[in-house]
Amino acid sequence: MRFEDVIEVIGNFISDFVNEEINPDIEITFDNYSYCYTDVPTVVVGLYIADNEIDKFHENYYKENGFDYTKFGISFRTFALLHEIGHIETITNKEEEEEHYSKQKEINDNVKLNSEPLNDTLLKYFNLPLEKLADKWAWDYLIDNIYQIKIFDNVYRKLINLLEKSE
Ligand SMILES: [Zn+2]
Repeated sequence: MRFEDVIEVIGNFISDFVNEEINPDIEITFDNYSYCYTDVPTVVVGLYIADNEIDKFHENYYKENGFDYTKFGISFRTFALLHEIGHIETITNKEEEEEHYSKQKEINDNVKLNSEPLNDTLLKYFNLPLEKLADKWAWDYLIDNIYQIKIFDNVYRKLINLLEKSE
């Protein structure tokens, strides 16, 4: 199958689930990594085709900080998606968001400048109040809807396998 065709199937699959189960207004698009727009609202799904150091560190952080979704057999991808939805579902006020974005920018600049060890920078990022809020939302949603999420995760994994084999 062609890459674009599989992406379309995955996009529809995620949209259907998110729109029916969580929020009918959320749009789904794709990029190399995950982020979201709370005003539109849109979740940009990260494709993470290759494993990378940041995701590995993030997975480990979740495991050691009370968000061990792996004990339910759930993948990082699914939790990352719930995290982005969590940002939309826990929107605070404009000032808090502005502050969040300026701290985010500071952290990204530090990564670019290599001004401190990458892991220290990442930990600062994961501990930003709005990041914690999104993690908490994702975790609570997961616990309350574990069977639906397990089914979702199963299909999502299979679609990602197809994507990795696509041309
Ligand atoms: Zn986030």
